[in-house]
Amino acid sequence: MVVSYTHDVANAYQNALAQYDRAVRKMNLDENIAEYMRWPRREFTVNFPVRRDDGRIEMFTGYRVHHNTVLGPSKGGIRYSTAVTLDEVRALAMWMTWKCALVNLPYGGAKGGVIVEPKGMSQAELERLTRRYTSELIPLISPQMDIPAPDMGTGPQTMAWIMDTYSMTVGYSVPAIVTGKPINIGGSLGRNEATGRGVIICMIEALKRQGLANKPMKIAIQGFGNVGSNAALYAYELGFTVIAVSDVNGGIYNENGLDIPAVLQHYKTNRKLENFPGADNISNEELLVLPCDVLLPSAMENQITERNAGQVKAKMIVEGANGPTTTEADDILNERGVLIIPDILANAGGVIVSYFEWVQDIQSFFWDVEEVYRQLQRILVKAYDNTAAMAEKHKVDMRTAAQMTAIQRVADALNTRGFYP
Ligand code: GLU
Repeated sequence: MVVSYTHDVANAYQNALAQYDRAVRKMNLDENIAEYMRWPRREFTVNFPVRRDDGRIEMFTGYRVHHNTVLGPSKGGIRYSTAVTLDEVRALAMWMTWKCALVNLPYGGAKGGVIVEPKGMSQAELERLTRRYTSELIPLISPQMDIPAPDMGTGPQTMAWIMDTYSMTVGYSVPAIVTGKPINIGGSLGRNEATGRGVIICMIEALKRQGLANKPMKIAIQGFGNVGSNAALYAYELGFTVIAVSDVNGGIYNENGLDIPAVLQHYKTNRKLENFPGADNISNEELLVLPCDVLLPSAMENQITERNAGQVKAKMIVEGANGPTTTEADDILNERGVLIIPDILANAGGVIVSYFEWVQDIQSFFWDVEEVYRQLQRILVKAYDNTAAMAEKHKVDMRTAAQMTAIQRVADALNTRGFYP
C-alpha cells in the first residue's frame, strides 16, 4: 500500500517558481539574469531495469536535474519515493541552488530521484537499483561536477553503494563523489544529525530574537525520518517539550511532552509510532493544527496549504522539509503573524555538513565532531543574520528575504562570469 502525507496535488515546481518570482519582484535584477536563473540547466531522465529477487526484471524511472552551476559543482540529494516526478526534482534542485547560495557554499543546486517504494524492496534489490541508477548517472556526476547525498528514502548505505559503483567504474576510490556516507568510508562525523540539529539551531535563533529564549516551548514535529527524528532528539536534549511527532502513517501526541529516546526505541522495535504508551494516536492533518508554540514540518512538500493554514495554532514554523508550505499558505500565515523560518535556511544544516564532508574527503584530513558542530553553528547563525537583515531592510518576510539573499549572490557571480559565449 502506498501511504502519503497528503492528498494535496499542489505542484512543488509551481511553488518554487512562484517563490522565485515573488523574490525577484522585490529586487533590482537585470532581466536576462533573472530569466537565466529561473531555468534548470540540465535534466536527465533514465529508464532502467532491475532484477527482482524472484528473477523478474522490472523497469524503473529515475531523474537528475542540475538546476544551476554558477557558484560551483551542483549539490543535492537523491530521493527514492513513489511521489517522485520530474517537476518535484526540478523544484528540489532549484531550492538546492538557493540553499547553497544562502549559506555561502561554493556549490550550485541539483537533485535526483527514482520512482520507487524503497520499503517494498529487499536490501539486495535496493543495492541493484542503486548501482544501476548510479552507472546511468556516471556522465553527470563527479567531485568537481555534481555531488549527490541522501534525501527521503535513501541513507548512508545508499551512498556507500553509489561511492563503490563510481569507484569501481573509474578504477580507484573516490570518497568525494557523495556525501552522507558511512564514517568508515570517508563520511563526516555529525553529518547524520546535521539537518535536524540545524533546524533546532535556527529555531533557537528565532526564539532569541523574539525574546523567548528561555521560555518553555511546546513543539510539534511532522516527519520522523532523518530530519524529524534528529530534530526531536536534539530539542528534547536541550530541554524543549516535544508534544507530537509523526511519520507517514500518522503520529502520537502527549500535551505534556514525549520521552523522545523512548519514542526512538519504540519506533525501532515496532517500526511505527502508533500506540506509544501514554500518548494518543493522531493523524498528520491533526498534528499540523495542534495547539503548540512551534511547528516543525519535517516530512515533505505541500503539507501546509490554503486548506489548513488558517487552522495552524503555532506562532512559529521552522521548515525541516523542503517546500512544506505553499505560497497561498504563506500569505495566510504571514497575514496571521505566524513567523516562518524557511526551508533553505532551516534545513541547510545537512548540506553544510555535506560540504565539510566533501572538503575532508578532498584533503584526506578528518575533523572531530566538535569542530563540525562549531563550524555548522557559525555558518547557520551567519546565514540567519544575513536573512534577518535583508527582511528588515526590504520589509519582507523571512522566506522572501532568504530567497533574495541567495538569488542576489548567484546573480552577482553570473554577472562577474558573464554569459558564454
Ligand atoms: N537532501 C538534503 C537537502 O535537501 C541534503 C543535500 C546535500 O547534502 O547535498 O538539503
